[in-house]
Amino acid sequence: MAVCCADDNSDDNSDDNYSETGGVVNSMWCQHAGVRFQLTRKNMKTMRIRIKARSGDVLVSAPHRVATEQVLAFVAAKSDWIRGHVEQIKQQPDQGETLDWHKLEEQRAALQRYAEQRLPYWAERIGVEPLEVRIKKMHSRWGSCNIRSKRIWLSLMLADKPFELVDYVLVHELVHLHEANHSARFYRLMDRFLPNWQRFDKELNPNRRRRL
Ligand SMILES: [Zn+2]
Repeated sequence: MAVCCADDNSDDNSDDNYSETGGVVNSMWCQHAGVRFQLTRKNMKTMRIRIKARSGDVLVSAPHRVATEQVLAFVAAKSDWIRGHVEQIKQQPDQGETLDWHKLEEQRAALQRYAEQRLPYWAERIGVEPLEVRIKKMHSRWGSCNIRSKRIWLSLMLADKPFELVDYVLVHELVHLHEANHSARFYRLMDRFLPNWQRFDKELNPNRRRRL
């Protein structure tokens, strides 16, 4: 059930009230699929969802030609993502800038493409047969390996790291298919397959806060 009403946020004089061509555009607050958001119509090509860093306000912008039902379906499809991030922002209000769903999805896709391309290369060198590599949101670790299913997981946090660090995490997780524990044997294998892994480890983990 969708509820849209006129903009009640008259003290918001941000750029969001203006189109890219400079004209004033329509803006209204809506409620749909458990998400309260400000819908702004603009001269633009694709819909965008952003979440403001401090307030957690959800801003949806859509081209004039897109029907409202289509906008609501888009919001409903992304509602889990939106609610999750609004919650996160409320807990850590001073983190970063506005979240942009498209930017994150592009980063995730680029990381997935790169990891898929590197997986067979490293698997062959290391002599293991992983099932696949997948990306997910993990905050406490950079990667993980399910030894039974032979599935490698990489943290979405790697998306803005240099590719060589993605390789490092991939190698670490693939070596786990030989040796489950961080034993002496594990590190001997790391030395063999990626001799400078310690340098990457320092770069990725200067404070040793996140695990592999
Ligand atoms: Zn490990």
